[in-house]
Amino acid sequence: MASPARTVDFLESHDPATGEVIARFELTPPAALAGMVVRAREAQAAWARLAPRDRALALGRLRDVIYQRRGEIADVASRETGKPRIEATFADVNVALDTATYYSSPRRVARMLRPEHVPHHSLTVKLKRGQLRYEPYGVIAIISPWNYPIAVPLGQIIPALIAGNAVVLKPSELTPWCGALIGELCQNAGLPDGLVQVVQGAGAVGAALVEAEGIAKVIFTGSAATGRRVAESCARRLVPSVLELGGKDAMIVLADADLEIASSGAVWGGFTNCGQACLSVERIYVERAVSEKFIEMCVTKTRKLRLGPGSDANTDVGPMISPQQVERVERQVKDAVARGARVLVGGHRGALGGNYFEPTVVVDVNHSMELMREETFGPVIAICPVDSAQEAVQLANNSVFGLGASVWTRDVRRGREIAAQLNAGAVMVNDAISAFGICEAPHGGRGASGWGRTHARLGLLEMLQVKYVDVEGLPRLHRPWWFGYSAELADAADRFLQFLYAPGLKERLMRARGALRLLFRGNRV
Ligand code: NAD
Repeated sequence: MASPARTVDFLESHDPATGEVIARFELTPPAALAGMVVRAREAQAAWARLAPRDRALALGRLRDVIYQRRGEIADVASRETGKPRIEATFADVNVALDTATYYSSPRRVARMLRPEHVPHHSLTVKLKRGQLRYEPYGVIAIISPWNYPIAVPLGQIIPALIAGNAVVLKPSELTPWCGALIGELCQNAGLPDGLVQVVQGAGAVGAALVEAEGIAKVIFTGSAATGRRVAESCARRLVPSVLELGGKDAMIVLADADLEIASSGAVWGGFTNCGQACLSVERIYVERAVSEKFIEMCVTKTRKLRLGPGSDANTDVGPMISPQQVERVERQVKDAVARGARVLVGGHRGALGGNYFEPTVVVDVNHSMELMREETFGPVIAICPVDSAQEAVQLANNSVFGLGASVWTRDVRRGREIAAQLNAGAVMVNDAISAFGICEAPHGGRGASGWGRTHARLGLLEMLQVKYVDVEGLPRLHRPWWFGYSAELADAADRFLQFLYAPGLKERLMRARGALRLLFRGNRV
């Protein structure tokens, strides 16, 4: 099988099922980046002057184009990643369409971006009229992974645009076709030239983009190891960043859970996208009273999954993206087995060859194993019986990652209580992964899973710089704290503090007169 991406003067896209070259794209030379950022800045200046509702209307045209070309987008995402076409439809096209729909409502967008009144509680500034204004950054670099090559970038590009920014997108070198398609969709929608530009290449181009003069913010999605490099580079230049990194999501199954649903949720949450989702279920802690039954159900359901190419409508689980990913999964499973784990189903490469790895259920696991500590990013679920919900919470939180988690129980109140104890950016009760597809749900992690948020209002705020503006209500008054200091002023200042902060109302009122002297003092400068 050919290596997934060779960087000569063009980039090859490979079908992960066969290794066959399916498309070629010109590599962007790092030297071209400066000019691209200048073009983006010019386009952005005019774009930011549009009223938010007009930007929303333009994004409505992007939504229409995505809708019209939805079949083709699903085909390309499926061919390039190997995921079943149905998963490209649900997870990539649907998320992109939903985001574009959400941000193409002129009323919603006008409401989200309008300046906010800031009431002041303190008497000293009561008459100032305060306001928060939201302004775009300028040119935002968006660097994306290959696993959701449509949903991840468009889920970030659309809010970046609605906020008034231009975008330079660097898709993964493993999914350049999806990246090029996104550029084409933006062009078809009639977005201004230069507003969304796509650069093609591997890590070196990504690193050069982060360093490019004029990039005002970096939204990076990828592994923790690359995220650290991006963060270091941003820090050196004092460029702000959002880091959407890996996860090691835990699923907690309580004894009262609907096991039929929970086991289907575990199998889907572990194996959708061939386990290559940042929010994949990777570790399952199940209460011992039901663990045997739950494990048996997971094994039975895993055996039924059909491995095959993404283009086959009956395929449940496609190939992994690259031989390197397969090797990583194989290494983690081998290490776990060497440390006493048992593989109940799967555990090795699929009979179809290439990048196929069988959906795998592992038990007798513990945290000495890499499988329980490092992101696997493949079709493996590791199940660990626990004596109590408390033990499950403690083990779930025993991770450097903190992206997502799920709790499965019929007792919703208890589900919420456990959610509150989990160290994660999002916790789903009786579901997994789905929060990523909810426009109102902020997406992001803690610890090694990164910082900042994408999606929802918090994600939109990451695309905006906040400015506080206030207007003095008594512009002709010398401010009491301005120059002309004296012993008399010091005394009046102390009375003023007593007037504001003394414990009883009576005592405060007694100081009122002395405090007022502050306003009418002489000796002003
Ligand atoms: P990766 O870190 O290898 O690459 C991500 C992107 O960064 C690619 O476009 C790559 O070319 C680029 N890149 C590589 N080196 C760079 C550098 N030095 N500077 C700038 N850019 C550089 O990740 P991947 O293998 O493409 O994606 C899988 C990872 O992404 C997993 O860890 C997964 O959990 C994570 N992920 C996270 C989220 C999330 O929202 N938290 C979503 C999807 C995937």
